[in-house]
Amino acid sequence: MAFPSHCPYVIIGAGIHGLSTAYHLALELKAQGKGSGSDILIVDKSGISAGASGIACGVIRNNYFQPAMRELMAHSVKVWESDPDAYSYHPVGYMQISSETMHEDIVSIHQQQKNIGYRSTLIEGEKDCMAYMKGIFDDWQAQNITTVLHEEPGGYANNTRAMYGLASKAEAEGVRIISGVEVSGFKEDATGAIRAVETNRGVIECDYVVIGAGPWTPKFWDMLSLPKTIDIKNSVTGEIVKDVDMWIYWSLQEGTLGVDPNLQQTNDGKMPPVIHVDTDAALYSDVDGSLITDKMWGIYYKPDFHFGGIQGGAAPFIVDKKADDVNVDPYGPLSPEFIVGDDFAHMWVSALAHCQKRFSGQIAKYKNEPSGGIGAFTPDSFPVFDHFRENCYVIADSNHGYKMLGVGKLVAETICGTESKLLKPFRFSRYQEGDLHPVSNSPFPWS
Ligand SMILES: Cc1cc2nc3c(=O)[nH]c(=O)nc-3n(C[C@H](O)[C@H](O)[C@H](O)COP(=O)(O)OP(=O)(O)OC[C@H]3O[C@@H](n4cnc5c(N)ncnc54)[C@H](O)[C@@H]3O)c2cc1C
Repeated sequence: MAFPSHCPYVIIGAGIHGLSTAYHLALELKAQGKGSGSDILIVDKSGISAGASGIACGVIRNNYFQPAMRELMAHSVKVWESDPDAYSYHPVGYMQISSETMHEDIVSIHQQQKNIGYRSTLIEGEKDCMAYMKGIFDDWQAQNITTVLHEEPGGYANNTRAMYGLASKAEAEGVRIISGVEVSGFKEDATGAIRAVETNRGVIECDYVVIGAGPWTPKFWDMLSLPKTIDIKNSVTGEIVKDVDMWIYWSLQEGTLGVDPNLQQTNDGKMPPVIHVDTDAALYSDVDGSLITDKMWGIYYKPDFHFGGIQGGAAPFIVDKKADDVNVDPYGPLSPEFIVGDDFAHMWVSALAHCQKRFSGQIAKYKNEPSGGIGAFTPDSFPVFDHFRENCYVIADSNHGYKMLGVGKLVAETICGTESKLLKPFRFSRYQEGDLHPVSNSPFPWS
């Protein structure tokens, strides 16, 4: 088939956001009698799920301290639930298990989950938490835990399988996906509106562009001449912090312990919920008993047949790359600072053993293969979903978004004329207006 020289809607990126937007836009255009999937073209410099969506742990949860995030996640979980087979979705639930430092945050999350009808159970107090956890895993042994928030919906999805499922749904609606097409710039008219997308295969004229470029977003930010640094108004004091880098890169550390995934079955032989623990209990090495940290730490994990073991991660670290490094390819050849090192395996497996005895003595089974990846983070670590240049929608996210299957649906509705209440808190002007998301006590920058 000839390379298209024109398509009304060009979507850049075949990750979760590009694919979900394309699929839902096809449905929306059809429903409104304004067109169909054949009016939509997805281009990707590599291919389907070549970016963050193809390496994500795939955890789907509601547990966020920020009300806008929770409402968006509740909406997204409904989209996952709409076709669990195609999306390779495992609704095993999710548990946030925390020490006293996070007690108040978790109580407020539970209360707000009740308000929006998201099903969860809250356990409080060290004794009751231990009894609840032992009721699920008889080898549970993490100390200092004073809250357990058990979310019934959510769980995880198999990263690439879900992306191929989503791509098939989009293609069934007539959407065309072309791999190996790298976007290098835009042609604009006198008003700044985008009239064409420039690629290594030729120019594609278009009426509307959606960018879902995950960790490559800073490059597109630059192509759109958006600011490298911004001023941010403090929501509480009104003070303005000037010239904050718009983008910084973090390394999201993940790995797999190559044991039989069935090792993590619950006491009654079922597949368990995803476990997330944040605690200030001292963490000791499972290898030699030395102290790893006496500061707040956090891990998450789940059994995963796709990864082949117990897969999960720990808190990320900042990589020394800033907005100026627009030539950085987050998933290009690995430079040393991007590699998840031995200290991650040591910490993470020791933390697994801290929580559950079954993982003690298993570190030799840690899979020594590249895992984890890079995220391009905004100043508040929450995504930006917004219109730019009149006919360009940017879905700027690379650290929360796998679970946000529903964002593409809302973006599609927005493009077709219905502004989304759920997306509004993620507009770019929030920084300037001081309308920021509240900050939690979690050791993870994104919670
Ligand atoms: C290790 C890791 C674990 C994660 N775990 C989770 C999790 O458990 N749960 C969760 O909700 N989120 C998780 N995330 C975050 C999540 O993966 C991302 O937020 C999400 O996948 C972003 O999706 P996207 O479609 O925007 O980007 P991507 O999936 O990165 O897709 C962007 C696409 O754009 C293409 N592209 C880039 N530049 C160009 C160009 N110039 N021209 C054409 N195409 C281009 C790329 O090839 C790529 O395919 C994790 C992220 C990482 C790194």
